[in-house]
Amino acid sequence: MTSQPPAHSTAYPAIPSALHRLPDVAKNLWWSWTPLARELFEQLDPTLWRLTHHNPVRELQMIDPERLVALSRDAVFLRLYTVTVRAFDQYMAARDHWFGRTYPALRTHRIAYFSAEFGLHSSLPLYSGGLGILAGDHLKEASDLGVPMVGLGFMYSQAYFRQVVNAEGWQIAVYDPFDREASPIEPALTSSGAQVTVSVRIADRLVTCKVWRVAVGRVMLYLLDSDTPENEPADRELSARLYGGDLHTRLCQEILLGIGGVRALRAMGVSPVVWHANEGHPAFLTLERIREGVIQGLSPAQAIDLVRNTTVFTSHTPVPAGHDIFPAGMIREYLQGYWDELQMSFEEFLALGRHPGYSADHFHMTALGINLAVFVNGVSHVHGNVTRSMFRSLWPGRTEDEIPIHVVTNGIHVPTWIAPEMHRLYSKYLGPNWIAHCDDQARWQRVLDIPDAELWETRQFLKRKLLNFIRRRIGLGWMHGDLSAEQVIAQGALLRSYPLTIGFARRFATYKRATLLFTDLERLRRLLLDPWKPVQIVFAGKAHPADEHGRALIHEVYRFAKDRGFGGHIAFVEDYDMHLAKFLVQGVDLWLNNPRAPLEASGTSGQKASLNGVPNVSVVDGWWAEGYDGTNGWAITSSPNQEPEQQDRHDAEALYGLLEQEIIPLYYERTHDGVPHGWVRIIKNAIRTIAPTFSARRMLKDYVTKAYAPIMSRRSTSAKRQSIGQVTG
Ligand SMILES: *Cc1c(COP(=O)(O)O)cnc(C)c1O
Repeated sequence: MTSQPPAHSTAYPAIPSALHRLPDVAKNLWWSWTPLARELFEQLDPTLWRLTHHNPVRELQMIDPERLVALSRDAVFLRLYTVTVRAFDQYMAARDHWFGRTYPALRTHRIAYFSAEFGLHSSLPLYSGGLGILAGDHLKEASDLGVPMVGLGFMYSQAYFRQVVNAEGWQIAVYDPFDREASPIEPALTSSGAQVTVSVRIADRLVTCKVWRVAVGRVMLYLLDSDTPENEPADRELSARLYGGDLHTRLCQEILLGIGGVRALRAMGVSPVVWHANEGHPAFLTLERIREGVIQGLSPAQAIDLVRNTTVFTSHTPVPAGHDIFPAGMIREYLQGYWDELQMSFEEFLALGRHPGYSADHFHMTALGINLAVFVNGVSHVHGNVTRSMFRSLWPGRTEDEIPIHVVTNGIHVPTWIAPEMHRLYSKYLGPNWIAHCDDQARWQRVLDIPDAELWETRQFLKRKLLNFIRRRIGLGWMHGDLSAEQVIAQGALLRSYPLTIGFARRFATYKRATLLFTDLERLRRLLLDPWKPVQIVFAGKAHPADEHGRALIHEVYRFAKDRGFGGHIAFVEDYDMHLAKFLVQGVDLWLNNPRAPLEASGTSGQKASLNGVPNVSVVDGWWAEGYDGTNGWAITSSPNQEPEQQDRHDAEALYGLLEQEIIPLYYERTHDGVPHGWVRIIKNAIRTIAPTFSARRMLKDYVTKAYAPIMSRRSTSAKRQSIGQVTG
């Protein structure tokens, strides 16, 4: 018990010495995926815990000092505290993790993982959606497996927006300033204790970034922040918003992330062996590393070789318009002179980001990533194929199956997404340490041992929990006078626990076809309002503020949610974020995903649902093309090579057919005990076949064995050869 009081303990009330480690646990996101630690912070003050939306840093700042004193004398609480602190210390100090056991020779190597967004917890709004949550899950799993990783991203002072939907059904984007003081974010310091800053030349000026850090278990995530007094006002805003500005802002952000990110790691003495760019946004990191090589005396060609042999690039976007492509003129303006430092002409420099499918005066960030990486991957098998065909022109003369783009299918961090109630159930039937084996398919077969009634009871409980959550939100909105009666209905006040409840929550992008179910309104109405076998649908999701089509789709769904004719069986719940996502994927009966194939790169929300015993009905696209096995949910078989309208009609027909003929009848087929045994069989199959395979643990192990470890091993042998050379030479 020698640990120092935290540096900024002044922000907290005096913490009794018997509880002095509380801030340490609160400041490491380890708590967010550890039931014991969540229990600790809930017990600390259940009301504050709820009021702060599960933010232990804020909770500690707000807690009544007298309550802390009382708890420091409460034997039951002290026991929980002691056990949690011990578990935390053991986790942080553990040496016997998977990576260390599997690759003892590589444990001192580092992997840097760069991403424009990280979704770690709803109290840290540094993400907009799937890409960020995937990055957050990646870091958490790296921590759990002992993979020696650091993360690099942005400190967004306003983050992504909070969604409000007005009475007319229009999305309003509200930007709240982010209260960093009430978060686990702290200044990154050099070994001598100075605040780390880095500078990057953008156009004719120098932009300085402060560096912050967040502890994600054993992994440190560093965040760049351009809001420093040295910068001009416009530059101070650069890191304010995620995907906020125009193409110019985007380019400046990407210069900071890629180039500034490498400099930040150097300033802190971090020397990664592997550099992983998550999507094209951070791909400039490759250029900065070429520059470093040239400064150290390599020729540009040698430096490119070195960078290429140590870079991993993951693409997530199957739509050409989703990739960042900058006009050459903008590159010339913002990166002026940078190519000189790489000892290249502007044309040679531009060629690094050339995609032959575009005119020569463009710079394509994904092409840059692909050109300069030794391991390139898509995020599902379908997406791997799409990516190979989108970028085949980068390998002239090769056939599509000769194109070296690999696949690592996305997965979810199981401890983050499991409902506490399901966790307890799995602990009972899969074994108390099932989480440690969460990618072991054999272990998951034990799901078949769970009594149907017990599993069904738990599912029903989670559904009531979701409905209570929705009602409490509505109640607060109503009380504060923000909601009209119509909005109260539209947001789900009339939802009941009896009907089959379908969840549809995701970004409102056109290709995700949120309104597909509304293709035939009469048919839908008959389904929803059936007196014996009713159905209700809960929608949630944000549209990018600049996406008129996406906003129009929300408006349309909201109109149906308000429509008396649907009797309150359709709801649109505002402000989809990780907090709401947990309630939805854990609480509904059925998860619906009906994108226009093949435009879904992977999707992960359906994986979260199945982990919790919620089967999918989904278009065969993204992860579902490999997840669906005929027994674990339902597949909408799309026929992609049609006109969009035809495809939509075809898929809607297939979806109605499945609901009418298979899904609804099975859900309501009850025996005398009230349990739908046929439905529970689907639930069990969904859990046991999907949970292990689509876990972040399987995903991380794939990245390590296919990409990280081979790069590290090559580096180890070449370093050894070099040092032998020095000795003998
Ligand atoms: C999981 C998740 C996503 C991504 O899910 P998709 O299936 O890719 O749509 C997006 N937003 C939130 C809040 C999530 O939790």
